[in-house]
Amino acid sequence: MAIYNLGSINIDLVYQVPHLPKPGETLSALTFSQGLGGKGANQSVAAARAGAMCRHIGAVGPGSDWLLALMAEYGVDTGSITRLTEPTGHAVINVDPEAENSIVIYPGANRMMTAELVTVALGQAVAGDSLLLQNETSAQVEAAALANAKGLRVVYSAAPFDLQAVRAVLDHVSLLVMNEGEAAELHAAFGSLPSVDCIITRGAEGAEWISARAEPLFMPSFRVEPVDTTGAGDTFIGTLIAALDLGMDRAEAMRRAAAAAAIQVTRTGAAQAIPTAAEVTAFLT
Ligand code: ATP
Repeated sequence: MAIYNLGSINIDLVYQVPHLPKPGETLSALTFSQGLGGKGANQSVAAARAGAMCRHIGAVGPGSDWLLALMAEYGVDTGSITRLTEPTGHAVINVDPEAENSIVIYPGANRMMTAELVTVALGQAVAGDSLLLQNETSAQVEAAALANAKGLRVVYSAAPFDLQAVRAVLDHVSLLVMNEGEAAELHAAFGSLPSVDCIITRGAEGAEWISARAEPLFMPSFRVEPVDTTGAGDTFIGTLIAALDLGMDRAEAMRRAAAAAAIQVTRTGAAQAIPTAAEVTAFLT
């Protein structure tokens, strides 16, 4: 089967700074690097590296061929990524010597996705395929509704968390994935968790799959020495959806997702740190 991922593609602009800038301050950065980022792109890379067929649905602006080339190198199908005149989404990330950061995101082309673009991209999708969504693009509700009507498994990663966005897609979603903080916000707003299947990830503690139709499933995290946890959640989700798409059961999918995320946090960076299926298999044997 196939995974379609309506998701953000960002250029991450990373500056090491002596301290986070104060209001009115002009600061020289110590180092600069740029790379592929965005929750959507990271999740597509994770799904593709896990061995699934993953077609990314998204938009970039001018001068972004290198981003698409990088995604393709990781195995992502970039055929439904539209080129627009709006700038590519980007994140300006300042990191101080204590690894504390401050981030400014300009969504750019990510928020120019339309129902029309999504409809074309899902033209070949069939029942049993999956649609993955996060809250960094436009046209999420239209995509979720269309995919649900076509019989796709619709998975929503509720990040960055926005209650209105969750409410708007919830009717069309079959699996909602959140970290602890996001789950607490949802619980506070709804008074309980929604009745759809939910996965709550708890960092080094583990992850839990809660379903009205089955016993809760808890997957402890593997013990590793983390060096950079950026993108752990995205690695978990992309790997999990890939495993389900490849026919694995819930427990095996959770185990592979936890293993992939455990490997990922022992490496620096986000997309570049995501392991291949072979690395995950080797880790588990
Ligand atoms: P991020 O925002 O950093 O991408 P998140 O907050 O969305 O992450 P987490 O709950 O921190 O998601 O992590 C997702 C999964 O990654 C966890 O359920 C776990 O399997 C794995 N993981 C995260 N941190 C660690 C760690 N320190 N050691 C082992 N596994 C980890």
